Amino acid sequence: ACTAFDLAYFQAYSDIGIHEEMLKDRVRMETYQDAISRYRHLIEGKIVMDVGSGTGILAIFCAQAGAKKVYAVEASDIAEKAKEIVRANNLAEKVIVLHQRVEDVEISGKVDVIISEWMGYMLVYESMLSSVIFARDKWLKRGGLILPSHATLYMAPVTNSIKYQQCVDFWNNVYGIDMSAMVQLARQCAFEEPSVETIQGENVLTWPFVVKSVNCYTVVAQELECISAEYRFSSMMDAPLHGFAFWFDVEFNGPAITPVQGSQYPLQSSLLDLSTNESANETTNDSNRQRKIKSNETIVLSTAPEDAPTHWQQTLLYFYYPTEVKKDQIIEGSIKLSQNRENARFINILLKCSCGGNTLVKESVLR
Ligand code: SAH
Repeated sequence: ACTAFDLAYFQAYSDIGIHEEMLKDRVRMETYQDAISRYRHLIEGKIVMDVGSGTGILAIFCAQAGAKKVYAVEASDIAEKAKEIVRANNLAEKVIVLHQRVEDVEISGKVDVIISEWMGYMLVYESMLSSVIFARDKWLKRGGLILPSHATLYMAPVTNSIKYQQCVDFWNNVYGIDMSAMVQLARQCAFEEPSVETIQGENVLTWPFVVKSVNCYTVVAQELECISAEYRFSSMMDAPLHGFAFWFDVEFNGPAITPVQGSQYPLQSSLLDLSTNESANETTNDSNRQRKIKSNETIVLSTAPEDAPTHWQQTLLYFYYPTEVKKDQIIEGSIKLSQNRENARFINILLKCSCGGNTLVKESVLR
């Protein structure tokens, strides 16, 4: 059933701003374009479903890539605009916009391809993947293609003194006035809840840990209700530990790829080769894209701090007080992400961390 929370959620997606932000996110857009090009041979002449099509952009890309028919399923009112957009681009014969929740859709026959952009902050915020799973189980043909096919959520300890200075130390001296009475309140405001912000590679103390990897071909909804993992890091530097950053990437693999299970998933190549990213200009970027599409190199949409920024940025969980860590010091503990009971689109976060004899526990909600 459609809850009041769902209504509020779909209401948010009827605004233009959220779609504008997504459509202006070039990293996001170009990676989906690359994936559609890569799998053109599996899209041409085939039936596609775009789960949560928003303005219809991915459905239209698939139609342009030669799909026979594309169901563009969108529950929010932006679907009415998608219909107009489809008509204006002379694709009304091919792209069928269904202004419905995917859970309520009825179509005759199955689909060859499911494409969706379902990823939320910390990957699982919004819990939209369950709608993709629903569509997969109901309509995807055996051996069909899912874009994206794999997703990985990472976490890493971070240092961010600038953030502390701006949010906390600022109050110690405001135009010469001692406002330290505000410090406690400021800590709470800035660090109680997770924050979505952009950090740099330099903020990250060591290699990331895989909290969860998801194979979209096989994942079941229950797996996402509660994700928990035990982590252990060894700091690569002396620095104050301020909290943890979370980010994700998604891969676009064909139906034949088997999952990589366990937490020692290979690190993104970008982490191992920082040079390519920074020195790349437009031309090399374009030729890189062409090379990726043609070769069998995996197409990845990364939201890591050392990669080009996206509208997802990173999600930060700060402690109220920093802890000094030394190089090679162990930072260990556990992380639990569970769907909020009241509103399944929110995420309850429970983080435990031991570090140099200190144990920190942090409970918060990503809402
Ligand atoms: N595909 C678009 C929009 C992605 S945002 C693009 O790439 O630009 C996700 C969209 O999915 C939102 O517009 C949201 O309203 C829609 N959505 C989420 N859950 C849905 C569901 N269960 N049924 C239909 N649409 C859904």
